[in-house]
Amino acid sequence: MERTLIGKLGEHVGETVSISGWVDVRRDQGKMVFFDFRDRSGKVQGVVLPASPAIETAKEIRNEYVARVAGIVNKRPEKNVQADRQNGDIELEIQAIEVLNPSEAMPFDISSDTSSIDENVRAEYRYLDLRSKRMQDNMHVRSEFIRRCREYLFAQDFTEIETPILTESTPEGSRDFVVPSRLNPGKFYALPQSPQQYKQLLMTAGFERYFQIARAVRDEDLRADRGFEHTQVDIEMSFVTMEDVMAAVEDMITTVVEAMGHTIKQKPFPRISYKEAMEKYGADKFDMRTEEDKEKGILAYAWVVNFPFFEKTDEGGWTFTHNPFSMPIPEHLEWLMKGEHIDEILTTQYDLVCNGFESGGGSIRAHKPEILEAVYKVMGFTGEELEERVGHMLRAFRLGTPPHGGIALGVERNIMNLTGETYLREVQAFPMTRGGKTAVMSAPKPLTDKQLKELGLSIDKK
Ligand code: ASP
Repeated sequence: MERTLIGKLGEHVGETVSISGWVDVRRDQGKMVFFDFRDRSGKVQGVVLPASPAIETAKEIRNEYVARVAGIVNKRPEKNVQADRQNGDIELEIQAIEVLNPSEAMPFDISSDTSSIDENVRAEYRYLDLRSKRMQDNMHVRSEFIRRCREYLFAQDFTEIETPILTESTPEGSRDFVVPSRLNPGKFYALPQSPQQYKQLLMTAGFERYFQIARAVRDEDLRADRGFEHTQVDIEMSFVTMEDVMAAVEDMITTVVEAMGHTIKQKPFPRISYKEAMEKYGADKFDMRTEEDKEKGILAYAWVVNFPFFEKTDEGGWTFTHNPFSMPIPEHLEWLMKGEHIDEILTTQYDLVCNGFESGGGSIRAHKPEILEAVYKVMGFTGEELEERVGHMLRAFRLGTPPHGGIALGVERNIMNLTGETYLREVQAFPMTRGGKTAVMSAPKPLTDKQLKELGLSIDKK
């Protein structure tokens, strides 16, 4: 018999059907055994009557067994109808149960919110944690957000393009994760902190509107809203101003989150300068919601603009605040080119803030070699260092690179806002523990001597 999804059983009243799924709960009442079965589409109650040929098997079955069940879909008598529950008006009268796979007892209760369970236990059995309702819902919200962003961007003529994972270091202000090269002993790839340079080169390549649901990897201190790995909706556009990119992103976010049933506090999104934000909120990420807004799950977006381009390093030199590939605001281009008023130069950076998180950030880029050169000169790079670091970008800028700009939206931080979760690990399928250990598997691990030799590496055992 063909499988019927549990969510569709209501359309099969009076018929004999076959369902497949997990035993959510089993209640043995002596003569009769009641079950709740669960599949991806929902839950249904089943009953094994004393005379059913399935009664013996039913007695042996435990929670989380995987089973195929045949039975008749019956309407429940009026007094037993549970109107507030999915399939609350029907019941499956079970005739046969085939155990597809038994299960040992769960190491923790997955029938309720798992957030208070020890982090390491949850990580070890993440696939069970993910079975819990809250985690299922979070993953569905994440999938829907990404799907809707994709659909929006395709409708606006964007092309989705992947960029390399094994790459050269791109400065995003964090440490790199590095990968040794067997073919080039002693040399290393870096995992991308973002697709920044490749997406700009795609503008040189004439794609004009690029996006990618991109993985980014940064070796930074782990915090509630930060992991080593995250995903970003990464966007780059040619022939655009700050206004164009901000308007496009604002429209995308509005379309996506409203379609997902959320309310936005203020439209168009308010704009505030970095200086005002620091004066008013003491931070460049802030929460504009009232207590009432918070209860209603309202999303309060704002743009922060006019960030300083440079900040002092501990050594007394200059470094970029956000992105070395940015353009200064037009009024400050001359200062940059002359290397004057460094502390006053503002960048075209725009950050999107939502409910206290930085939910995205981007800028208009330098597309002429002399502008990027001027940025690196301020940061104290010599001609040779400049060539070594960004020579490939300077070359591309001499070969018909159009003016361009873009943004990256952090998927996890957006999903945290949509779900009300306060930890990044609640919105990623397989997050790392705070100690940097992978979920379920136990990386990082030592390499064998053979692997080390092949890679030309030796471990300094202190
Ligand atoms: N590359 C930047 C980031 O990952 C975003 C951008 O400027 O497009 O934060």
